[in-house]
Amino acid sequence: MLENVMEFYRNIPPKQCASCGDKMEEQAEAYSTVCDKCSSSI
Ligand SMILES: [Zn+2]
Repeated sequence: MLENVMEFYRNIPPKQCASCGDKMEEQAEAYSTVCDKCSSSI
C-alpha cells in the first residue's frame, strides 16, 4: 500500500508555479503551489 503511494509521488512531474507557471524546485515548504516570487508578492 505505502509503496504505491511512494511510486505515485515519484512519478509526478516537477512542480509548477500555479501563478506564473515557472518550474519550482523542491522546497521544505512543499505545500506551496506558487514559487517564491509569487508567494512573496501575496
Ligand atoms: Zn510564480
